[in-house]
Amino acid sequence: MRYHQAIYEVPLLFEGCESSLIDHADDRCADMIPRDLLRTSLELPDLPEREVVKHFVNLSQMNFGVDNGMYPLGSCTMKYNPKICDDLSSMDTVAHMHPLQDVSTMQGALALMAELEEMLCEIGGVDAVTLQPAAGAHGEFTGMQIVKAFHESNGEARKEVVLPDTAHGTNPASAAMVGYDVLDIPSKDGCVDVDALSKTISDDTAAFMLTNPNTLGLFEKDVREIARIVHDAGALLYYDGANLNAIMGKTSPGMMDFDIVHFNLHKTFATPHGGGGPGAGPVGVKRRLDEYLPVPRITKRGDAFDLDYDRPRSIGKVKAFYGNFAVLVRAYAYIKMQGGEGLERVSEQAVLNSNYLKSKLKDLFDMPYGDLRKHEFVLSGKVLKKHGLRTMDFAKRLLDHGFHAPTVYFPLIVDEALMIEPTETETKDTLDAFVESCKQILSEDPEIVRTAPHNTARSRIDEAKAARDLILSWRGHKIKKTHSGDGQRSSRA
Ligand SMILES: *Cc1c(COP(=O)(O)O)cnc(C)c1O
Repeated sequence: MRYHQAIYEVPLLFEGCESSLIDHADDRCADMIPRDLLRTSLELPDLPEREVVKHFVNLSQMNFGVDNGMYPLGSCTMKYNPKICDDLSSMDTVAHMHPLQDVSTMQGALALMAELEEMLCEIGGVDAVTLQPAAGAHGEFTGMQIVKAFHESNGEARKEVVLPDTAHGTNPASAAMVGYDVLDIPSKDGCVDVDALSKTISDDTAAFMLTNPNTLGLFEKDVREIARIVHDAGALLYYDGANLNAIMGKTSPGMMDFDIVHFNLHKTFATPHGGGGPGAGPVGVKRRLDEYLPVPRITKRGDAFDLDYDRPRSIGKVKAFYGNFAVLVRAYAYIKMQGGEGLERVSEQAVLNSNYLKSKLKDLFDMPYGDLRKHEFVLSGKVLKKHGLRTMDFAKRLLDHGFHAPTVYFPLIVDEALMIEPTETETKDTLDAFVESCKQILSEDPEIVRTAPHNTARSRIDEAKAARDLILSWRGHKIKKTHSGDGQRSSRA
């Protein structure tokens, strides 16, 4: 595949515009604002709309996204999402809604939310859902608070949350944030080691957190036995349902005896994600945990929807107002559009694509732990070492071929891990082209691979610096420039 990313040498919008900063000193409202609160300048660049549009369109072309290529980031479900869901969520009646509107004027929104709750109950096999949490990790945090409230109301102060070593990093973080000690158990053949679990679970265990299929793409077939062990100890079973793509319509967390589940609407249900944009991480629970869900709950009196705050055992609010409503609208539209059968086909196609790609790639690399995978699979890039290369080099070189890199170095139990999730939205031609590129890269001059990417707007960046040394505003940039005194445009990449 031939691929070359666009390169524009675009200055920041602020650069070169400092002389034309908007002067608000003679603003008509100035008289109404106390002198000492009045700013004389907002330090915003004064630019024609045309320049602003050009700037952002150019920048967008120096980026890689789901809209311009395959994005097989494992444990992320970077699928292509139908644009109609975006259209619906940007309708005036959605975008111009005000969170302080009277409930009597919000009936349509509440009807949509109530129906979305019902649909998620069915998909998740649970009895009640809250739409409030803003992300998967936030859903986990909400779930852990429910765990805590449940045990406390039973007069128990359980201190530990147990999880397998394949768990997503947000799981231990969420449990720790709620105040739990986190115990990690090693996997056996890539799945939960049931004996190790039995030995670890005690009457101090508050919950066991699990994702199924797990992050290796393996279905935990002992899940019922796991549930029995956890429940016999009086603990709760938490399902990380961030990537529900593999199981919709086939099984559900509820059928697998989980008590609590979070969904990532921005992975499975049509909100484009990445870059930390708004998401939604609804949480579903079985009947006995219903009373702990965040307030307000949506209720119906006669024909009218209302918000119920009178729930004495609720953990309280976890997000202002209605959660990220536009994300809920997208998910609602997507689920309605697919219907039950459509969602089942999504899962079948996602698992088929993953296994097709796996069968083409597993002999080029090494694939530890079993064969049949669900929506994703994990290869080991250790074969690269004999060329003096690492998985990171391979991943960067894929960008030169027009493919976003897979997830690398996760899960931690696989040496030089490459975690690939093609999703259901890629065609066979694209999957074949991906395989072809992988083969080509493995036979290329290792030096080219080691120094990749070459065809992108930016060559290899210092990722640790990019993560630790964030400069996200013009003011931050100026402060940095003053302190470092080098005048470099260091924030541009
Ligand atoms: C993405 C993901 C999460 C976290 O979801 P966010 O919305 O990014 O907070 C949790 N668990 C798994 C398995 C995930 O893939």
